Amino acid sequence: MKKLFIKTYGCQMNVYDSARIADSLAPLGYSAADAPEDADIVVLNTCHIREKAAEKVYSELGRLRRLKERRAEEGSRMLIAVAGCVAQAEGEEIVRRQNAVDIVVGPQSLHRIPEMIARVERREGRALETDFVPDEKFDSLPASRAEGPAAFLTIQEGCDKFCTFCVVPYTRGAEFSRPVPQILGEAQRLVDAGVREITLLGQNVNAYRGKGPCGGVWNLARLLHHLAEIYGLERLRYTTSHPCDMSDDLIAAHRDLEKLMPYLHLPVQSGSDRILDAMNRRHGRDHYLRLVERIRSARRDIALSSDFIVGFPGESDEDFEQTLTLVREINYAQAYSFKYSSRPGTPAAAARKQIPDDVKSARLQSLQGLLSAQQHAFAKSCEGLEMSVLFERRGRKPGQAVGRSPYLQPVHVDDAEHLIGMIHNVIIARALPNSLGGTLAGARPKAVAVH
Ligand code: SF4
Repeated sequence: MKKLFIKTYGCQMNVYDSARIADSLAPLGYSAADAPEDADIVVLNTCHIREKAAEKVYSELGRLRRLKERRAEEGSRMLIAVAGCVAQAEGEEIVRRQNAVDIVVGPQSLHRIPEMIARVERREGRALETDFVPDEKFDSLPASRAEGPAAFLTIQEGCDKFCTFCVVPYTRGAEFSRPVPQILGEAQRLVDAGVREITLLGQNVNAYRGKGPCGGVWNLARLLHHLAEIYGLERLRYTTSHPCDMSDDLIAAHRDLEKLMPYLHLPVQSGSDRILDAMNRRHGRDHYLRLVERIRSARRDIALSSDFIVGFPGESDEDFEQTLTLVREINYAQAYSFKYSSRPGTPAAAARKQIPDDVKSARLQSLQGLLSAQQHAFAKSCEGLEMSVLFERRGRKPGQAVGRSPYLQPVHVDDAEHLIGMIHNVIIARALPNSLGGTLAGARPKAVAVH
């Protein structure tokens, strides 16, 4: 039996891709290794979003090269593959800088990994594939397997928006939507295998325009309505959305579909019109605020999360203040915030007015203070509520189980291990820093010994 180790960087879409890589190599006899030291092939499935992503990959490759050399001295062979967005962006440069690498494969060519391994094993030299052929990828990769009651399902890849700070349009290519029958089939198989919650994934998921079974084009709202009809599928989510693609019928779906969870990740990045324009976000502050109003009037209990970039080139104190006022006005349940860092090849990287790092750090600290206070207040507002929890795994304490609330918060519940894989109502007793604690609704209180 051959062994495979995959190190995954970045977003849920990469997690989904890594699982597909493992599935596509299983028929070749590869099973999961616990560590690179035990593997016949090590795959780095990379992400280009975070700062110095490529440099981090090169330093990991340095460690793997030494491991590969040790293995060769011991008489065994280990292959190294670099997959994902850094592979796409760097291409042959990877092999030039680190000649221990055998395979470089972009995110749209992952289905070719088995054939690329075969080529390398036949000693036909290195293999490099960075074509953009997403339809071929999804036709060829095995469908996702259930590994618990919650699963991801990629329905869309790529982006046509070209925000000036982002590499996705260059590394994942143009927007591509998988055909509807392929998605419905994959969802049904997941549910048959015990999945109760599916999160639809896409870099720009609400721009979904997939070919329907009779040839017409379906949008995300229509797809959600049909997925909601699958018996046994109890919860639906989707991420990540662009404010410009929140159509009226998608907003209405939040009102009409009980299975669509009341939690929406809707990145805004900045509260300043001037910066939104420089980012090429294609919408202004007012558009976003009005959109949130419409979403909230469709689904009163919806909770929102967002992404923020502070210190974008040219961001003044006033622009940053606009971000703070927008955050106060919206009141988020959760958010991710980062200092701007330039990505080679993106327009913003060439902007002249870069912001000094100490200014970025101070702004980030103040934004994060506000966001974490809002997150904590939201968690506190859940205390005393009864909410449905999908139990996903065992907790640290014996008998304890951990699940997710409708708002995606982890919920720890004692004596609930038998409910893993199921949905059960929980009374939320306390808000912890990054999770909730509760007791099963309807559970009889334990007898307490009286001395
Ligand atoms: S919409 Fe999202 S994925 Fe597309 S360019 Fe902008 S930040 Fe990147």
